Amino acid sequence: MKKEIDISIVIPLYNEEENVELLHEFVSKALRESGRRWELIMVDDGSSDATLAILKKIAAEERNLKVISFRRNFGQTAAMAAGFDLAEGAVVIPMDGDLQNDPEDIPKLLEKVEEGFDVVSGWRKNRKDRFINRKLPSIIANWLISRITGVYLHDYGCTLKAYRKEVLENINLYGEMHRFIPALASLNGARVTEIPVNHREREYGTSKYGISRTFKVILDLVTVKFLLSYSTKPIQIFGGLGISSLMLGFLSFVEISVSKFVYGADVTGNPFFLLFILFILIGIQFISMGLLGEINIRTYFESQGKPIYVIKEIVGGEEKS
Ligand code: UDP
Ligand code: MG
Repeated sequence: MKKEIDISIVIPLYNEEENVELLHEFVSKALRESGRRWELIMVDDGSSDATLAILKKIAAEERNLKVISFRRNFGQTAAMAAGFDLAEGAVVIPMDGDLQNDPEDIPKLLEKVEEGFDVVSGWRKNRKDRFINRKLPSIIANWLISRITGVYLHDYGCTLKAYRKEVLENINLYGEMHRFIPALASLNGARVTEIPVNHREREYGTSKYGISRTFKVILDLVTVKFLLSYSTKPIQIFGGLGISSLMLGFLSFVEISVSKFVYGADVTGNPFFLLFILFILIGIQFISMGLLGEINIRTYFESQGKPIYVIKEIVGGEEKS
């Protein structure tokens, strides 16, 4: 029989050669002390330094370590997704590979999962990063993400989180979406909570991100909001915009008609003339986009046999003996 695993730790690594050995040491120590059956999955995201070579060296001696190596740099989200796909543990815990997260927090996360939560989000309450280009954008982003998704968390950006494995099975990650997993999971009915976790300064290697990440996060948020609210009914949002636009077009039409036929004015230079044409065209475009969206979602759900709902359990109906 296959060995059952309680915890899978997933760590994405991109050019972290100075960190890998210490990281393995700290994480495996914390896991051994936890007394659970564990595995450690380290994903080399196409590093150009010695990261992979060091990982292979450690894997030769550590039987709980699995190493995945990418052909090129696919990004942190892809690296995490690869780890999630391979993970066998009942609980999956991703963390950063730069020693900024503290493996000592793992038991605290597990405790919350055992209380019955499906997602436990780490909150770097005392975050050790620069204020102006990291913490401030993060405060604004977390506020926005919480407001828009309705899942209130202080720290979406913290990689250290714990997920019950089933939660991840229903979620596909694209772009930089890993930070939105709690929001996507809650869409499927997961119970989400957060606990403060330790955060340390990055001592070795450099951060892979700059301020431009903020804009990517905002754009991803638009996608997530759309998926959360309208993914099974695109015509409602595009159709709504389309109808509003057609109505504005109609009002513009009334305005030019009155000018021309009641007041006998020349309407060639009337701005409403242009607005009339613009609004009608945009309105038709929006409605067509909504219809295309409707066709797309049918392809998405029906071609994969995906239901548009998630069942928790079905009670009754079994043969009684
Ligand atoms: N990372 C990765 N692929 C990338 C960029 C980053 O696997 O393309 C890893 C990186 O090695 C680290 C984690 O993702 O383990 C978080 O990255 P980083 O520490 O640079 O982000 P920050 O903490 O500065 O937000
Ligand atoms: Mg970091």
